[in-house]
Amino acid sequence: MKGLCILGSTGSIGVNTLDVAARHPEKYKIIALSANSQVERLAEQCEQYQPEFAVMANENAAEQLTLILKNKNSAVKVLSGIDGLETIASLKQVDYVMAAIVGAAGLKPSLAAARSGKRILLANKEALVMSGQLFMDEVKKNNAELLPIDSEHNAIFQCMPEDYNNDLSKSGITKILLTGSGGPFRTKALNELENVTPDQACAHPNWSMGRKISVDSATMMNKGLEIIEACWLFNTTPDNIQVVVHPQSIIHSMVQYSDGSVLAQLGQPDMRTPIAHALSWPERIESGVEKLDFFSLSKLEFEQPDYERFPCLRLAEESIRKGGTAPAILNAANEVAVASFLDNELKFTDIPYIIEQTLLNLPSRPANSLDEILEDDLAARKEAEHLIILRVKQAK
Ligand code: NAD
Ligand code: MG
Repeated sequence: MKGLCILGSTGSIGVNTLDVAARHPEKYKIIALSANSQVERLAEQCEQYQPEFAVMANENAAEQLTLILKNKNSAVKVLSGIDGLETIASLKQVDYVMAAIVGAAGLKPSLAAARSGKRILLANKEALVMSGQLFMDEVKKNNAELLPIDSEHNAIFQCMPEDYNNDLSKSGITKILLTGSGGPFRTKALNELENVTPDQACAHPNWSMGRKISVDSATMMNKGLEIIEACWLFNTTPDNIQVVVHPQSIIHSMVQYSDGSVLAQLGQPDMRTPIAHALSWPERIESGVEKLDFFSLSKLEFEQPDYERFPCLRLAEESIRKGGTAPAILNAANEVAVASFLDNELKFTDIPYIIEQTLLNLPSRPANSLDEILEDDLAARKEAEHLIILRVKQAK
């Protein structure tokens, strides 16, 4: 029986994780759940799954949850804030931590899981983008296990040799082929992109996800963040990663070998597959995902990524080549710009502009410590907010 902590249990990944875990009550025990401010949702989950702990990141929300659970005579202990998240990620009765908080907010709790040597099921790609070297060092030092949940990285992991030892060429690997659907605006007329709405951007053709990652998919910053994520997970550089646009999202990524072989992982676009894989690895369990029916697939298509339509791809690649805190700055500016777009302030096409200007205005430095990374994250947020105010004024 493995004890499971889910950071971000009310989100899209969190709910899918509960769905898979609940299919195997003899294998997984839910120890802790967490959310930011969705009190009602977390209260329902507490009732259904009876964890030992529930954490609300937001302090007021934690008080509300305590009241609700008290009225129900619930035995669930309520904690709050970053401290509470770090506590549940480090509990001794927790074996596996699903890191599914969105954005930089997930960094500290994910690091806490690494420091306490857990199996980390990593969905929170922003954490790795911000602190790649530091994160990987903590995983290694503390004998933690890092299993990717991002469908592409999970696919790559599945296509890698079992004894992959952090060296692509020694394993005979010539390229990682990172697939991406191209999002909802792959073929939209360029002159219409300026006025797309948040709802249009969040209407992903194949995947149902949280709003932030949905916008990232529409700008293809998601693929940019995933290039960075792949560099850290598989110890490589963007030179060895080729983005392949594959609109059907059936192939979830591929690995090309020197003998001409290409291994691919295929499946329905349903996150329960990578979640089940990482929960049960190296075994396999039922996930509830519909089987792939080849006779109903009409065709699988592949295209080159369009760097002009999607400048975020270039910005992400440049930032990981630059290294140090540049990816943390890129990530922070992106989070602020996306939030502003979702609030109907910033135009969709201004998202890459804000990120690029923030990167130009702020010098990056070596990412030697968590404090330095968090300082640059904060500075980038302030700079991006300032640039957005100017940009929005200009547009009026
Ligand atoms: P979501 O918005 O649906 O859920 C986010 C979760 O994080 C919620 O439980 C929310 O309460 C919690 N949260 C938000 N802000 C927080 C804060 N400040 N402090 C603590 N908790 C906070 O997002 P999602 O789509 O589930 O994505 C989660 C992560 O997984 C993201 O990093 C995303 O990039 C990654 N991911 C998601 C998918 C997907 O299919 N949804 C696929 C691959 C990777
Ligand atoms: Mg992905």
